[in-house]
Amino acid sequence: MKVLLVSPEVSPLSKTGGLGDVAGALPQALRQVGVDARVLCPLYGFIDPESLGKTRQAGSIRLSIGGAARRANVVETKLPATDVPLYLLQHKRSFDRKGIYSDANGDFTDNDERFLLLAQSALALPSAINWTPDVLHLHDWTVALTPACLNALPSGDARRQWASVLTIHNLMHQGVFPKTVLDKSELPHEFYNANGLEHNGCLNMLKGGIHHATKITTVSPTYSREIQEEPFAHGLQKSLKHRAADLIGIINGIDCAQWDPNTDRSLIRNYSIPDVEDGKTACKKDLLETLGLPQEEKRPLFFVVSRLDQQKGLDLLANVLPKLISDHDAAFALLGSGDPLLESTYKSISRENPDRVAAVIGFDEKLARKLFAGGDFLVVPSRFEPCGLTQLYAMRYGTIPVVRETGGLADTVTPWRPGKRSATGIVYEGMGEWELFLALEQALKVYRSQKTFSALRRNGMQRDSSWEPSAKYYAKTYSWAVEQRLKTIRKEEDLKP
Ligand code: ADP
Repeated sequence: MKVLLVSPEVSPLSKTGGLGDVAGALPQALRQVGVDARVLCPLYGFIDPESLGKTRQAGSIRLSIGGAARRANVVETKLPATDVPLYLLQHKRSFDRKGIYSDANGDFTDNDERFLLLAQSALALPSAINWTPDVLHLHDWTVALTPACLNALPSGDARRQWASVLTIHNLMHQGVFPKTVLDKSELPHEFYNANGLEHNGCLNMLKGGIHHATKITTVSPTYSREIQEEPFAHGLQKSLKHRAADLIGIINGIDCAQWDPNTDRSLIRNYSIPDVEDGKTACKKDLLETLGLPQEEKRPLFFVVSRLDQQKGLDLLANVLPKLISDHDAAFALLGSGDPLLESTYKSISRENPDRVAAVIGFDEKLARKLFAGGDFLVVPSRFEPCGLTQLYAMRYGTIPVVRETGGLADTVTPWRPGKRSATGIVYEGMGEWELFLALEQALKVYRSQKTFSALRRNGMQRDSSWEPSAKYYAKTYSWAVEQRLKTIRKEEDLKP
């Protein structure tokens, strides 16, 4: 089985969130279960050529936006420290920038054209590299028009046989543009309808993908059910219900070699299950020093590593945090960036409570790793969470997650209840601040019982979050998609006059 994964970000070269992690780790796991998985991603201006190792110009491909020809180069390399072939789409005008989707001035105004190029290049790349995929595996809205591009190919074109799998990592981001973008896409006008690319008078790239892809996956079983109802469907309920038979929830894994407290070079001390207590104590000391918080190692440390976005429920947390630290002997640290209002809210809570609260605004993977190792409780109060990776990293590093029962959080954290031996974290229901506050208090109760705290910690570390089972499920999904695509093509041919 040959599969080309197409993604706007791929870790460790480019990443704004979980999508980058998945695009970096899944292809490695796929290759281990016998899939010839390769990755196509843009060559951004911030990617350090030194980090790429050996590269080769694999040729150039011709693309077209609204009838205007564009030429892009393909740089072939390997995903760092792996055997995964990586093709970097080099189009300086579109991608030689410091951001993936945006910069300090907001979203790039030409994101429609930039990502149409990426979506189209999935069809053009294989002949340039002399390799024919069975499946195009598209990730999120930026490349969600690729399945429509496949369906628009003339009937004699051999590429029509390629199946497409669209993975939705976050339904909130849909790639909505004015109708005029249809002409830029060069897709047939009949694709622009309510069972296709049109939504509320605009061109909706993700909706187009949902209607045109052979199979659709999303990143947890619970989220795959949630998105068939509002408010989780973000307006696309009808489309998702229509495709329900082809919609599959596959939980994300993590790269267990890259995220291992026993080898992580960001940590002052490495540790594994037998020496977790000593290891985490050393890491906590180091973390408190880095954050400028007092060396009170016995004080429970809650923390967040996140995009600061409405989705993540961090406004709710900001509202209960002052009460948490006034009622209890607890400390808190935040690492994140995004919404300026949330940035300033957390900064001001930290200014008012310098001995208890630290707020670091920015994106800093090394500090994130120190937090996973040195913190006691990761807090994830998301309104919705397709999968979530931070709770998986937390558990792997012996940190207890406190999460809302939604999406992948519900699927990956085993809730603590008195007497429940397999628990790995605190899971709470309800969207309100009060429910969150009670969950944080429950965490403190667990913290006070050394035996329970230690059991949850160890259970989390023992959890298998590896990619292998999910990679096998993707491999099966690819086979189903190929079968289904061939049936569709045969049917079309039978119907030909
Ligand atoms: P999402 O994809 O919605 O952002 P996930 O939990 O799936 O959420 O993935 C987030 C990823 O981004 C994790 O690897 C997390 O550690 C990382 N991350 C988020 N914010 C930061 C930050 N400010 N600094 C470093 N890493 C971050």
